[in-house]
Amino acid sequence: MKQSEMLLPTLKENPTDAEIKSHQLLVRAGYIRQIASGIYSFLPLGNRVLKKVEAIVREEMDRAGAQEMLMAAMQPSELWKETGRWDTFGPELMRLHDRHEREFALGATHEEVVTSIVRDEIKSYKKLPLTVFQIQNKFRDEKRPRFGLLRGREFLMKDAYSFHESYESLDESYQRMYDAYSNIFRRCGLNFRAVIADSGAMGGKDTHEFMVLSEVGEDVIAYSDSSSYAANVEMAPVITQHEATQETSRPMEKVATPEQKTMQEVADYLGHDLHKGLKSIMFNIDGSFVMVITRGDHEVNDVKLKNYYDASLIDLASEEDTRRVIGSGFGSLGPVDVNEDVEVIADMAVESLVNVSCGANEEGYHYINVTPGRDFKVSAYADLRFIKEGDPSPDGEGIIQFARGIEVGHVFKLGSFYAERMNASYLDAQGKSNTMLMGCYGIGISRTLASIVEQYHDDNGITWPMNLAPYQVHLLSMNPKKEEQKLLADDLYQSLQASGIDVLYDDRKERAGVKFADSDLIGIPLRITVGKRAGDGLVEFKVRATGDQSEHEQHDIIDHVQTLLST
Ligand code: ATP
Ligand code: MG
Repeated sequence: MKQSEMLLPTLKENPTDAEIKSHQLLVRAGYIRQIASGIYSFLPLGNRVLKKVEAIVREEMDRAGAQEMLMAAMQPSELWKETGRWDTFGPELMRLHDRHEREFALGATHEEVVTSIVRDEIKSYKKLPLTVFQIQNKFRDEKRPRFGLLRGREFLMKDAYSFHESYESLDESYQRMYDAYSNIFRRCGLNFRAVIADSGAMGGKDTHEFMVLSEVGEDVIAYSDSSSYAANVEMAPVITQHEATQETSRPMEKVATPEQKTMQEVADYLGHDLHKGLKSIMFNIDGSFVMVITRGDHEVNDVKLKNYYDASLIDLASEEDTRRVIGSGFGSLGPVDVNEDVEVIADMAVESLVNVSCGANEEGYHYINVTPGRDFKVSAYADLRFIKEGDPSPDGEGIIQFARGIEVGHVFKLGSFYAERMNASYLDAQGKSNTMLMGCYGIGISRTLASIVEQYHDDNGITWPMNLAPYQVHLLSMNPKKEEQKLLADDLYQSLQASGIDVLYDDRKERAGVKFADSDLIGIPLRITVGKRAGDGLVEFKVRATGDQSEHEQHDIIDHVQTLLST
């Protein structure tokens, strides 16, 4: 392709709204353009890379035995009402009306559509298991679209769905998909981890997220420094054993703590360590008030709390509700003598504490020398806090460390959640009707593309791995007005193409500095520059990622490139 003819608008400056490298570079190097917040078009260069990622995904899906199909993106509300998700999915679902005032959604995900197809078409166990997938734009009205392709409102996803007779069969397909995902992200050159994730309200059990390790990731991964254990920080169980203390408990006392609001302020004022104070937080869990107690240096993990109660909705109680129910605001909340209708639950670490402080449910007062169990009732001690760096790894091997990650893929055992609600059943070998079991498996293709740029760039631009680059070779003619340069560059362009090499030919009448800067920005792995020494039949060669440069005879350069491409 000749660059002079291509829709490839590069920019000198970063777009002002672009905070992270992949967003800045993909816009500046002419891969993508935004048309509204979180909504992007792929220009020719971006589209070429997208197709390469898609090709890897298709090959691995094929190999895993999944069949490609393409489902409608526009989905009638009736389907979403069958599963109840018309109400529970919330404002992320983009909803619209047709001319007859019928309600539709733009596909945010396709469990309902695929389940309705399979329920209508598959009646016998002989057709199971079945795995289908599609690659399609998804629509989600994200609260905070940001970071370019990382969190869009329209984005490209590969979604796959599997249907089964038994859990053994679901487990097998899940493992096959897990392996396919590992291959895909390895082939994309990504540094990633498969981590144990939260199965949430979907009723499934096993679920893993594939996380690309990156500072700009929104998720935190807790991993062991000496085993393969890795989990989303929300999920990692805490196994720290707390020994009962030898300290004798003193009688509880009420003390004034005027103007002391935060845990740290109260601890400083009372002269004890943060972990010797109790943190009390009120939650509204499916409409009931629950006071959750942790050590002052620990954080309540709302996912664990939600799972503990098997709740559909949990939220922090408002300060207004807290005042109404307990009689004091957030700063002086505590578990001593609380109203009978408020359940008090505590994290395991609280059980072995003595002589701690807590709010007295009276503005400006705290209790000291409080002993849980003696001075207040706890309905249960459970694992309710976030794991911390330095905690023992839940698999018993090593110590937990944290890293940030970008979720690029998600595999999920759905179980019977959708099939039950949508009556997807089949006849087994005995002629008995049974509910199908399902799995679902997603990859954010556009997010993966951006993650690759996060891991492959330097100060001057993108440094694509060869198998994902939009072109293999960038051919630059420094001064096309000079006859011998133009002739040699034209000639090389023909020969490269004839050898089956993907080449982008910068034949533009631009200054050399502009061409070099654009070439670095775009990030094609190999560069051939035809310049001053064209008259002697010599060209410059450069490897984008390493900066290695060398000079070659015009007759040898194609061989040199082919040798590099074949290694
Ligand atoms: P997140 O927690 O990041 O919102 P999710 O749990 O909602 O992701 P899934 O519903 O599992 O994501 O979707 C499958 C995949 O689609 C994700 O693993 C991710 O790679 C991608 N994805 C999800 N939301 C977006 C988005 N707004 N923009 C780009 N990719 C997305
Ligand atoms: Mg989401």
